[in-house]
Amino acid sequence: MNPTNSLTFRDALYIAGEWSVSTDREWLEVENPATQESIGRVPLAREDDVERAVAAAVELHKAGHWRATELSERAKTLNTIADAIERRASDFEAIYTLDQGGVSSFAGFTAATAAAIFRDTALLAEQLDLGPTRRDTLTGSVYVSREAVGPVAAIVPWNAPLVLAAVKIAPALMAGCPVVVKVSPETPLVSFILAEAIAEAGLPAGSVSFLPGGRELGQFLISLPGIKNISFTGSTGAGQKVMATAIEHMTRVTLELGGKSAALVLEDADPAEFAPMLAYGCTMQAGQVCTTQSRILVPESKREEWMAALTTAFRNLVVGDPTDPSTGVGPLVSRAQRDRVEEFVTTAKNDGATVLTGGKRPSGTRFERGYWYEPTLLTGTTPDMQINREEVFGPVITVEAYDDLEAGIAAVNDTEFGLSNGIFTLDTDKALALAPRLESGAVAINSFGPNITAPFGGYKMSGVGREGGIEGIHEFLETKQVNLPPAK
Ligand code: NAD
Repeated sequence: MNPTNSLTFRDALYIAGEWSVSTDREWLEVENPATQESIGRVPLAREDDVERAVAAAVELHKAGHWRATELSERAKTLNTIADAIERRASDFEAIYTLDQGGVSSFAGFTAATAAAIFRDTALLAEQLDLGPTRRDTLTGSVYVSREAVGPVAAIVPWNAPLVLAAVKIAPALMAGCPVVVKVSPETPLVSFILAEAIAEAGLPAGSVSFLPGGRELGQFLISLPGIKNISFTGSTGAGQKVMATAIEHMTRVTLELGGKSAALVLEDADPAEFAPMLAYGCTMQAGQVCTTQSRILVPESKREEWMAALTTAFRNLVVGDPTDPSTGVGPLVSRAQRDRVEEFVTTAKNDGATVLTGGKRPSGTRFERGYWYEPTLLTGTTPDMQINREEVFGPVITVEAYDDLEAGIAAVNDTEFGLSNGIFTLDTDKALALAPRLESGAVAINSFGPNITAPFGGYKMSGVGREGGIEGIHEFLETKQVNLPPAK
């Protein structure tokens, strides 16, 4: 342990725009999932920290110091934050590989995307119509205006802590709302760098707080009446609890939840060309992505060709040190996550699935420590098996053949989730025509989506509301009508 490393050893929490140091608190040890070494520690937030952050947010909202600013002023602030994120890109990248086990070839994407979210939201200031706008209707005339909803509780998961915090904070600030972010205990470190970046923008006190802690802390935060919108990203089960809690104060919710997305491969796609792309995309971040296309559906006419090509492509994925640029698949984020993945595969095998490749931890000295699991391809599964119905959140993918296109579409939609399905084909027009028939908030053509600066969210059990784009800002606005006196 190196207590002088300020990126990984933190002793102050960013609450309501100030760094508050405390020695009298519990600490959260941060582990490198590739080595199981302790790499740092951060203070755990307590309920009194949450109360302080929310009280400051409520106070700011009442005083109106932020929600009364011009949209152009808010845009300027968001661009200042984007500049600061870009300046700290190498720090974000280092932490991504260190506490999450994310591979270095992907690390640059996270800081660049977070900065893009702040910049894109700043640009949307020009399109945002807060009114008041007069509307003359058949039953009278009104002015319609949009107002900041109030303090936002932003609950972020561990799997993309920078990007998923950015996609809540930027639109909430653009809407005029203060934000209290509950940071996931598995990957808390990036939130401290993000807080430093935000602090550079000189927002009024109470605008943004970051509170690392577990689900109980999150539950406490969202139960406070001062919170007017809960912007939650996480599993569907937790999202249901969040929604149930929101009932008490009728708090607005935006829920970005789990998925069981499919890759629908059309007849014209050449296995030699597309299999490596699918293997890479489906195991990105070791499959710990909400939009992972975890069910590959290939045409029956090319079944054997596809099974062979995908098996080879999965075997060719390089598993190992996430800091090595040639690594494709790093470790899972924690022991609990690795064990969970292992249980899914055991159950699938017991249910009758065949392992085409993987299905175990990798062997060798390199893998004696760390939470590793081989990229795994299963077949011989049926739609009713757990492996096809529940989200694994790991590098475990099923591949099955469909008889005709109608059967393929039906198979894609045969799930309670609806996040981000893929279509793989040489014919973009055909894919565009098929997209409306897939029950998901996003459809990615020859890619793995989503574009998080455009409206993104889930159908069915994958969520409520949208993040990104102008729609993402609207989640944090209330709409008001003011009726003009009746004509005499
Ligand atoms: P999780 O549901 O266990 O936790 C997510 C966050 O919510 C954490 O910060 C956790 O502490 C907090 N939390 C959990 N229960 C809570 C409660 N009752 N009240 C308040 N806060 C609570 O999920 P996870 O394991 O951290 O993340 C993985 C999940 O997130 C996967 O299901 C994945 O699909 C989903 N996810 C969805 C999206 C999306 O945009 N749809 C993006 C990324 C991840």
